[in-house]
Amino acid sequence: MSTDHLKIQFKLHPVPECLLSRNPPPHVNSIEQYKKLYEESIKNPTEFWGKLANELLTWHTPFQTVLSGGFEHGDVTWFREGRLNASYNCLDRHAIKNPDKVAIIYEADEPGQDRKITYGELLRDVCRFANVLKAHGVKKGDTVSIYMPMVPEAVIAILACARLGAVHSVVFAGFSPGSLRDRILDASSKIVITADESCRGGRTIHTKKIIDEALVECPGVEHVFVFRCTGSSVPFSSPRDVWWHDELEKQRPYCPPEIVNAEDPLFIMYTSGSTGKPKGVIHTTGGYLLNAAATLKYVFDYHEGDIMGCMADIGWITGHNCIIYGPLANGGTAVLFGSTPIYPTPSRYWEVVAKHKITQFYTAPTAIRLLRKFGREYVDPHDLSSLRVIGTAGEPINPDTWEWYNEVVGRNVCSVIDTYWQTETGSVTVTPFPGATATKPGSATFPFFGIDLAILNPDTGEEIETTEAEGVLAIRRPWPSMARTIYNNHNRYLDTYMRPYKGYYFTGDGAGRDHDGYYWIRGRVDDVINVSGHRLSTSEIESALIMHPMTAEAAAIGVSNEIKGQCVQAFVTLKPNSNNTDVKDLTLQVRKYIGPFAAPEKVYIVNDLPKTRSGKIMRRILRKIVEGQTDSLGDLSTLANPDTVDTLIEEVKNS
Ligand code: ATP
Ligand code: MG
Repeated sequence: MSTDHLKIQFKLHPVPECLLSRNPPPHVNSIEQYKKLYEESIKNPTEFWGKLANELLTWHTPFQTVLSGGFEHGDVTWFREGRLNASYNCLDRHAIKNPDKVAIIYEADEPGQDRKITYGELLRDVCRFANVLKAHGVKKGDTVSIYMPMVPEAVIAILACARLGAVHSVVFAGFSPGSLRDRILDASSKIVITADESCRGGRTIHTKKIIDEALVECPGVEHVFVFRCTGSSVPFSSPRDVWWHDELEKQRPYCPPEIVNAEDPLFIMYTSGSTGKPKGVIHTTGGYLLNAAATLKYVFDYHEGDIMGCMADIGWITGHNCIIYGPLANGGTAVLFGSTPIYPTPSRYWEVVAKHKITQFYTAPTAIRLLRKFGREYVDPHDLSSLRVIGTAGEPINPDTWEWYNEVVGRNVCSVIDTYWQTETGSVTVTPFPGATATKPGSATFPFFGIDLAILNPDTGEEIETTEAEGVLAIRRPWPSMARTIYNNHNRYLDTYMRPYKGYYFTGDGAGRDHDGYYWIRGRVDDVINVSGHRLSTSEIESALIMHPMTAEAAAIGVSNEIKGQCVQAFVTLKPNSNNTDVKDLTLQVRKYIGPFAAPEKVYIVNDLPKTRSGKIMRRILRKIVEGQTDSLGDLSTLANPDTVDTLIEEVKNS
């Protein structure tokens, strides 16, 4: 399929001049340099990654074999003889040299309650808590489930596990008791770490109560460590439950790191569950840590003195990489943000940027769409001059939203990076380089080092060799941070990623490559719409809809149609004070920018769209509602706003 039908004109944004003239210059400061490094990483991966692994990480035992194994059996290994410890790499080596450097800036839910934690302090706290875990029998290879709010102790808990070689499984603290139970059982954790309560957006969350409910059906859990966050009285059942602070006092603030093999698992992370039951993917110590460190350095162009501001929750892979492992492995400073973009007002992000002088800001398209809906008056009064790189991840960003982000937040002087990756890829896979890549709004541009991208014909599995291509996105060769398996389910791992297209890692996403070689992520293959033989991407249709001045968010789906195979239907939410939008205008918008065949047969104006807890639109639910299959909506445990389902059913019925 060609992209000729696409009439949205994409402006090319060169790298802002002020970034190029900085001293020190960007780590990669021209497209030629990017191409050279990229080529090296593909032609000679052993040398490229071997060198970087020694540059960015400290090894207790050097590795001899950089890469072995392959996709077919899913037996990939990186640095297999190498031994190291992730917490040593994130803490000790920096704390020894520079104990007073700030590692974490904690911005609590209530403005004004921030706290700085140095490398020296963090190392002591992590060691103390590692000793607590050790005293309760936790050892290398054990899985530990962590269900904690965004407080520094969550970082401490994570790194304490890494210190002992225990495998952490962080579950986002917004999950319900049922979803939490499933993840604790799936990970076979005997230990759970949590808090009494937490506060987010001014609301109290009864964390310990949720844990207790989840644990009714988890007889295998032996201990629950409870961090006192709000101090309210909460149900507590000794000896299973143990107070964090009581135990901490008993322990010495040093714990020798357990040196593990590069291929020993570092953590389990569950995918967002946009397309079905979440997968508990396993990331290993050496390869994962290397890519996390490299991402921060190259994708975010992190330099000494920078302040990394990633707004994601630590319960997602983005939080693991961009708040914890990436910044700390580089000896950098990261902000841990414990609130929401709109608490107490829609200016919160920008107040935080100004206060902490954040240099790299990173969030999800859903948050930008939300703030764009409120308008620029919430952004403009704030001093955002510290920002150099502003990024997004998690979903396609519509060009219109991209332009708003660039102009209003980036004031046309920042690099905007639309980063494409997955829980499974472990680190950013397609991205602009801030000092090198001219960007096109809506395109994630080019592959990161070592990511050998291919676009395949979805039906034949053959690779499309022409520059311009449209199909499904796959990767030709292993990279260090790729997930090694799905916990206790290697067969599902092979079925999901390795078997659909032999010889490739299959991403599950559709993608296009334009005449300049830029990659455009079109959305999930499961969501692709096929109208009379035209394969339409959800993201293109949504981008056209969002260009309408009244649209806040949009979701396009394909619905069975006897004649055309499928037809397009769309769901739209509106900006405040725009209730009189004519649905015809929205349809016209799609006709104009894509073509008549893509015009939605029906547009539903609704109050809210169903989203995962990581903020992604769940189109499969909309499809089921429209097709009347409301009794088989599938796995809803990852839905952030379950109430919307009933409202949507009503809204569709009444339209
Ligand atoms: P599940 O795999 O359980 O269905 P999920 O795919 O949403 O859930 P994640 O690993 O959190 O779980 O998300 C990865 C997916 O998010 C990608 O496969 C892609 O569909 C989408 N995505 C992430 N970043 C981008 C981006 N920059 N542009 C377009 N899509 C993106
Ligand atoms: Mg996925």
